[in-house]
Amino acid sequence: MSIYEELGVPTILNAAGTYTVLGGSKMSKQTLDDMADAAGSFVQIRILQKAVNSAVAKLTRNESAYISNGAATGLYLSIAAAIQMHLGKKFYYITKEEIAKTNIVMFKAHRNPYDLVIGHLGTQYRELSFPNIIFPPTEEDLRMAIDENTAAVYYAQSGWVAPGYLPLDKTIQIAGEKNIPVIVDAAAQLPPVENLWKFTEMGAAIALFSGGKDLKGPQASGLMVGKKEPMDIVSSIGFPNYGIGRMMKVGREEMVGLYSAVKQYISLDHQARGNWCEVQVEKFKRAFTDSKTFHAVRSYPNEAGQPIPRVFLEIVDEKMTPEQVHDFLLAGNPSIYANSDGLNGIFINPMSLEEGDSDVIIKRLLEFSC
Ligand SMILES: *Cc1c(COP(=O)(O)O)cnc(C)c1O
Repeated sequence: MSIYEELGVPTILNAAGTYTVLGGSKMSKQTLDDMADAAGSFVQIRILQKAVNSAVAKLTRNESAYISNGAATGLYLSIAAAIQMHLGKKFYYITKEEIAKTNIVMFKAHRNPYDLVIGHLGTQYRELSFPNIIFPPTEEDLRMAIDENTAAVYYAQSGWVAPGYLPLDKTIQIAGEKNIPVIVDAAAQLPPVENLWKFTEMGAAIALFSGGKDLKGPQASGLMVGKKEPMDIVSSIGFPNYGIGRMMKVGREEMVGLYSAVKQYISLDHQARGNWCEVQVEKFKRAFTDSKTFHAVRSYPNEAGQPIPRVFLEIVDEKMTPEQVHDFLLAGNPSIYANSDGLNGIFINPMSLEEGDSDVIIKRLLEFSC
């Protein structure tokens, strides 16, 4: 009996993508072995951190790296580090009143539920411009939004951001004129693998990634990469130090697991992986060519803006709804999870599929359709 059977928790075939609420991604056998190895011995956490962080920095072509327990923590620690840099004293000595005077500049178009962690530090959100194209922001708007209390500019990088922001390079340039660090939330911006160094090469102070999404590290891990100064501060306030970082614990299994996953991700044949995804999309298109229920089209890039194709099965039968398809897939054996993204159809994302999964999904969908 599997552990999930013992617990009475149904497993699912994930056709949606690297969603945290579905488990993010699956670790490779190698990663799991390395984590088991790490769990088998005691080590001094600080020595392990130093070794892992410097190895990951090197692998990702960055000055510094830090393994956190998730990208959301990475954002929290990045903003805390920026506040320390701004106020010029150790975070431990900074009062709530001092933090309350600081602000983080961001485009309204970039607001999202992950950025709520910024407010938990007690700093102010300084929102800029509008989340649409009616009155696009200018460089002057950004310059004017930054004042003497600005500790950082927060920049969300994703496929779902609204229009109404300046490009990252312009943002970095303008923030740089005033020596303000730019923190890039790139949690789901892998692939492409180059993003591990691209944002920081452009001049971002810190870029953060989720370890449990496409990197296929432990679900409770996050990767922060960036410039030495802010990242040294991150290391000094993050786990295992006392203070705000202490509650964001990272186990040696996660540190080693993410290191292992990053190593594998960098040496992965991304071209072949992309081709494999295209083949899956083609399979669906072929299977539903004559369908009176679905019209299959390739959709690119995906919802997070990743350069991975999905197939969109548009419902052409007026009697059917996306909810019915979703529920039908979920109720089967295996239980299949797929999203409609609010459209009249269902997306199949090959990102998290394995060999053979597409055939299982197609078979099930053919039972539903005509
Ligand atoms: C997933 C995601 C996060 C959170 O990542 P975790 O590793 O789960 O903490 C933050 N920001 C964005 C844009 C995300 O997509």
